[in-house]
Amino acid sequence: MTDAADLADRVREGDLRLHELDDHADPETAAAARREIVAAETGVDLDAVGDYAFDAAEAESAVENMVGAAQVPMGVAGPVPVDGGAAEGEYYLPLATTEGALVASVNRGLSVIADAGGATARVTTSGMTRAPVFRVDGVAEASEVVEWVGGSADALREAAESTTSHGELEAVDPYVVGDAVYLRFVYDTKDAMGMNMATIATREAAGVVEEETPADLVALSGNLCSDKKPAAINAVEGRGRTVTADVLIPHETVADRLHTTPEAIEEANTRKNLVGSAKAGSLGFNAHAANTVAAAFLATGQDAAQVVEGSNAITTVDVREDGLYASVSVASLEVGTVGGGTKLPTQSEALDVLGLSGGGDPAGSNADALAEVIATGALAGELSLLAALASRHLSSAHEALGR
Ligand code: NAP
Repeated sequence: MTDAADLADRVREGDLRLHELDDHADPETAAAARREIVAAETGVDLDAVGDYAFDAAEAESAVENMVGAAQVPMGVAGPVPVDGGAAEGEYYLPLATTEGALVASVNRGLSVIADAGGATARVTTSGMTRAPVFRVDGVAEASEVVEWVGGSADALREAAESTTSHGELEAVDPYVVGDAVYLRFVYDTKDAMGMNMATIATREAAGVVEEETPADLVALSGNLCSDKKPAAINAVEGRGRTVTADVLIPHETVADRLHTTPEAIEEANTRKNLVGSAKAGSLGFNAHAANTVAAAFLATGQDAAQVVEGSNAITTVDVREDGLYASVSVASLEVGTVGGGTKLPTQSEALDVLGLSGGGDPAGSNADALAEVIATGALAGELSLLAALASRHLSSAHEALGR
């Protein structure tokens, strides 16, 4: 077996390129050879990067030109009871972050929610999207394509679903702009986040559109999907899971545990999350939902770039006679418990902590439950931060935790 030093020499001599090393050695040796090359050229020893705990072969579908791993500290918040459409019982939420005070904040919120009897959560709609863009002659042809699509649901479904045993085509929504036609395909991707699944299925269906209509495919993604970019369509129509978590907290619990009043939390939410966000033209009407979403995504192997969509959340707070009602509705939470990074060892362990690793029974129920628990975590983060702002404790809390 070729050793790392020999491989590194062959790269330096121009005989091999960095990405070709996996064809000449096992993944561990190839990664070691790359570290040797990068270390020699940059003067940075990569001992910490190379000190990873998983088998490099397990990361082959997750990364190219692997040199090691970026380790992110992981904490846990909870336990919290969640009464969900799919989630049921008490959950610890694993959170990976480098932001000190985040896990403490979510943990405080979850403990208040637990004291109040737990959160209720539901996935209200679900659908991963891919929207190819087609070229046509002009609006007359565009209209012809839209009409054909409207009458051809079965043909499109048959083509799309021929590529997957789990995915189901739910809808194809057409949009016309001049001589461009966008078809937004919406899929039930069950327990997969579904971006690869939806892309492969849409490629097949797009072929049928080209065969049967004058439309020519320009790009399999025409950005109306819309993946990994701030977009109102996701905030309005949803993408992945649209999920809400809510709780009713008794007035005395607010006073005892959050050290403020329900009215002060409500006012902070209205003036900050609703009016302030409206004035800023924000798509996110929340305090920091992306914090919980990002940390949960890193811990459980979700696609980190989709935190963009995960920040499309509205937080509501109302003082009621019997307590403080609070909710977080995340419009486009893109999560899976199979596929992508979910099968890597630490991420899969984190999903095991939730009891949600792999496919659910029925299919889709594990990813639904994960969305419900993450939404509950986001609700906890919102309550904790709003309370800190309302009681003017935010900066002192960060100071007390050493930053
Ligand atoms: P994937 O790892 O590509 O595929 C997961 C596969 O698992 C599914 O296609 C399905 O196979 C199978 N499966 C087994 N049990 C399942 C169950 N219970 N529910 C659903 N599927 C089940 O994952 P993906 O979710 O489609 O895509 C996620 C990956 O796409 C991530 O790595 C992400 O970073 C990446 N990504 C891709 C794009 C893109 O444009 N292609 C964009 C953004 C992100 P069958 O289909 O055969 O049933």
